[in-house]
Amino acid sequence: MKKRVYIAYTGGTIGMQRTIAGYAPAPGYLESRLNAMPELHDPAMPDYDIYEYSPLLDSSNMQPDDWLKIAQDIATHYADYDGFIVLHGTDTMAYTASSLAFMLQGLQKPVILTGSQIPLCEVRNDARENLITVLLIAANYAIPEVCLYFGDKLLRGCRSVKVNAMGFEAFDSPNYPPLGTVGIDINIHWPYIRRVGPGPLTVMPLHDTRIGALRLFPGLSAEIVRNILQPPLKGLVLEGFGVGNGPTDDGDFMAALHEATLRGVVIVDCTQCLKGSVNLSGYATGSALAQVGVVSGYDMTAEAALAKLIYLFSQELLVERVRFLMQTSMRGELSEGKL
Ligand code: ASP
Repeated sequence: MKKRVYIAYTGGTIGMQRTIAGYAPAPGYLESRLNAMPELHDPAMPDYDIYEYSPLLDSSNMQPDDWLKIAQDIATHYADYDGFIVLHGTDTMAYTASSLAFMLQGLQKPVILTGSQIPLCEVRNDARENLITVLLIAANYAIPEVCLYFGDKLLRGCRSVKVNAMGFEAFDSPNYPPLGTVGIDINIHWPYIRRVGPGPLTVMPLHDTRIGALRLFPGLSAEIVRNILQPPLKGLVLEGFGVGNGPTDDGDFMAALHEATLRGVVIVDCTQCLKGSVNLSGYATGSALAQVGVVSGYDMTAEAALAKLIYLFSQELLVERVRFLMQTSMRGELSEGKL
């Protein structure tokens, strides 16, 4: 029997058209282009159904409600398809991929996000190759993960980051090897793919977005930090220097963090470096952060840490449980114990 793939088309450059204000989504356009591509109707290709979202979004306009809509859409069609593709803008694709990984609990089938840097309407584009390859992967490889495909690499969604605003190799997963590489052959690197237990698929909803992110820099004022940490904030991704260090000689800064953690704010330290892990026992400027209640995000991307905080706070868990789970791998988003 022919494999079937469900395509959720949420927006993004891939299906955009030129307008006087620049590229913008155009309803109906992508599907008509796909219908006119003979290679998509080759016997080697799976059957697919495409569902266009309304409105189509530039992903810079996406919100957690949109992530939830995608997760629910996949769950609704889960039994009827072998794999799922989410066509999405590249700007916030790593956030959506991270969030879907947490929300889709018990996932057994591939969910692959892709898009392009140049839309399908242009003669020279990266959309065609990305689209054809994800259709083949989603149909033929039973990868039980949320993945992101771009520029010949299949990445774990909750490890991915946008690293290039212009190039075709726009994404990378600096702290985890690609799940697959595509050249003459499609090579899936099975040892890196998570083993999962039996389903069923459950969508864990999102509703609590009272979280924030703060990138440390020399000269950051303690007053600003104190303001950010005020209610209603429940969780903060603190992007520290190097292995997660901060300006711990600044007593006001440290007092602001300590007061917040005592009130139950979960502060997770991620590194500003693209590669490597937080190690809060490496330097005095890190261990002092741990002493005031900051927890390590290890080698999680800031995107994954933000999505995970939203996900965990939406489950109404106790603060201590949220702190524990932020330091524990739930979907392969962090390497535990690699300090
Ligand atoms: N602004 C676009 C978006 O994220 C960029 C892209 O798709 O490449 O929707």
